[in-house]
Amino acid sequence: MMQRAGGTLVLLLLVAALTHVAAQPPHTGGARTTWIDAYREPAGRLIGEATSSTFAWQRLAILTDTIGNRLSGSAALDRAIEWAVAEMKRDGLDNVHTEKAMVPKWVRGAESAEIVEPVQHPMSMLGLGNSVGTPRDGIRAEVLVVHSFEELDAKSSLVRGRIVCFNAPFTNYGETVRLRSAGPSRAASYGALAALVRSIGPDGLRTPHTGALQYANDAAKIPAAAIASEDADRLQRMADRGDRIVVQVKMEARFDPDVESANVVGEIRGRERPEEVVVVSGHLDSWDVGAGATDDGGGCIVTWEALRLMKALNLRPRRTVRVVLWTNEENGGRGGLAYRDQHRGELAQHVMMLESDSGVFRPTGFGFSGSDRARETVKTIATLLAGIGASQISTGGGGADIGPSVQEGHIPGMSLEVDGSKYFLIHHTQADTIDKIDPVEMAKCAASVAVMAYVVADMPRRLGE
Ligand SMILES: [Zn+2]
Repeated sequence: MMQRAGGTLVLLLLVAALTHVAAQPPHTGGARTTWIDAYREPAGRLIGEATSSTFAWQRLAILTDTIGNRLSGSAALDRAIEWAVAEMKRDGLDNVHTEKAMVPKWVRGAESAEIVEPVQHPMSMLGLGNSVGTPRDGIRAEVLVVHSFEELDAKSSLVRGRIVCFNAPFTNYGETVRLRSAGPSRAASYGALAALVRSIGPDGLRTPHTGALQYANDAAKIPAAAIASEDADRLQRMADRGDRIVVQVKMEARFDPDVESANVVGEIRGRERPEEVVVVSGHLDSWDVGAGATDDGGGCIVTWEALRLMKALNLRPRRTVRVVLWTNEENGGRGGLAYRDQHRGELAQHVMMLESDSGVFRPTGFGFSGSDRARETVKTIATLLAGIGASQISTGGGGADIGPSVQEGHIPGMSLEVDGSKYFLIHHTQADTIDKIDPVEMAKCAASVAVMAYVVADMPRRLGE
């Protein structure tokens, strides 16, 4: 196996050397794009290796079954970090280590919400991440249902002393998430005692979706929780009938002092320009519900797979490929900030940064932000993925964790793009478990990241030049 792989590598290097002249430049289009031909063979091997087993899915199953969800500051996240380090070493990756980041430690505690008037109905709820708790006996108050910030403003005189319920139908995440993140403080600014938010996600089976809120500095911090769409609908029907609705909310949520956590880093060191780096990444932390399989255990495993596959096939690219498993994406972003600060002197040597945080469903391609020249090259590389349907290059290409470094270093950014039909159904819920993920689709995600990362790291010219 090693013998065969080694022989192929020599052949590859020969092919690469022979096509070196033709390889310049990759971005003028037309007939002289033969540089990519040298990558058909290794791309085929990476795709073959990834899709010939269910390794990625099995590894995610071990993470989610034996460790489970991984909120920042939890013992489970610490265990996941230790496990990832040990496994990366077992894979034979280079320079495996952790990089310290201090993270917030938010603790949910026991929580409940119920309608107590006109008749008692318990609600299916999840406190919002970063929320404060209620007093021990809870908060009991009349509910005001609104659909938007505009309606809240219009009814501001009715808000004081009440619990505000934001009940906006889910259109897409970008449009509705602000009700969750900014709604509690908007309601507090008019004197609300607590806030309930219709879950930010398509209607499911009475499943509340948690997620972070951001308190404004100029409003009181009030407790806030997501409720299932069915419970929001019931409140709405009662309000429409003119009922006086009273709700009781109890939440023990609190912050403990910040604790030490870490990003996990592993590499395939480059054979010619090891100081130039291509980063692939996902976030290892998750919310404290479900198993953090889709958000974002899957993204961690498929980007890590890119390096494991290269190692298994004895493919060592010209530049370094580095996998980073971020800490604290969900409620602080401290991992991404720590990386930017710790690698400040090295950001100029970052050729590209990729983040996978939209699930590991059927891959369609990549979002990309960077120069037009770099985009043309990336589009050419993506043609190697046509056989698995992942050759589209779209705009976007951001990621919460790569963001700080990408912005400061003006680094090309990339995101793995996948079929998005299921992601928000299970996002931040108890239903984020591995059974929603198909092993073959996940293997194709790993193959896509592996081929893209390998070619960008190996091309004779640096991406964009
Ligand atoms: Zn995520």
